[in-house]
Amino acid sequence: METVVDCRVALEPVWRDGRRIGFVPTMGALHEGHLSLVDRARRVADFVVLSVFVNPTQFDSADDLEAYPRDLERDLALADRRGVDLVFAPTVEEMYPEPSLTTVTMAGVTDRYEGAARPGHFDGVLTVVTKLFHIVEPDVAVFGRKDAQQAAAIRRLIADLDFPIVLEVAPTVREADGLAASSRNVRLSPEDRRCALGLHRALRRAEALFVEGERRADRLEEAIRDELSDRQAVELEYAAVVDRDRFEPVVVVERPAIAAVAARIAGVRLIDNVPLEPDGS
Ligand code: AMP
Repeated sequence: METVVDCRVALEPVWRDGRRIGFVPTMGALHEGHLSLVDRARRVADFVVLSVFVNPTQFDSADDLEAYPRDLERDLALADRRGVDLVFAPTVEEMYPEPSLTTVTMAGVTDRYEGAARPGHFDGVLTVVTKLFHIVEPDVAVFGRKDAQQAAAIRRLIADLDFPIVLEVAPTVREADGLAASSRNVRLSPEDRRCALGLHRALRRAEALFVEGERRADRLEEAIRDELSDRQAVELEYAAVVDRDRFEPVVVVERPAIAAVAARIAGVRLIDNVPLEPDGS
């Protein structure tokens, strides 16, 4: 389905019958991570909508936008096999017939990390997700923990703008070697990929220290940096322990937190994280 009108006409009977709609927004090039969100949506809803839209306004680099993988035929086949009921795959002209004069901006949660590294990124995400929420009117929206800061921002968007939507955040799906599934992984050579595995290894080291009882964020961050220090191909952008919901740095982990990293490997920007959850939190 390509147009907003067609999408809403198809959803009309679903809304009318009061069937629960589960919504999974994506930029396509679907992989197991996306499809795990579809599985989650199917478990908690009666009708699953998947959107495929490479949203230009959330890219801060024209090259990255250009290089982003696209294969709608394949995405449609995968979605169908996984039990998606409706795929909404609009064109850029359909979503932005004119450049949008309205932007959804958030303070706080989006200021640091991905927000600082990619100026304008979260404005683009929050604006397009707001549009998609209005078009699809889902009961449940499913996002991945892989983009933990995005999940925190969407949680806040739903609360602040009174969307009657339940947010589900699903765990990160990894490939067999531990690399977080990502549409960008196809751009890594076998050698770069081996380097990229260091990200998960470093996060696991922090996680192991945390399980052993380490609660000081600086020690956990140091463990991550240590693990990556001898991998020259890895240009680390940040290694941070942050509050899971506010996405602000923490000194001592006392509430649910996230150890997050971002790095460039041969020009490909990758992010990954692991949850750090103190007992009883
Ligand atoms: P994207 O297509 O990259 O915008 O991602 C669409 C959704 O899939 C977002 O909610 C992501 O957090 C989620 N996602 C991407 N990669 C993974 C993964 N490896 N595991 C779980 N969810 C993921």
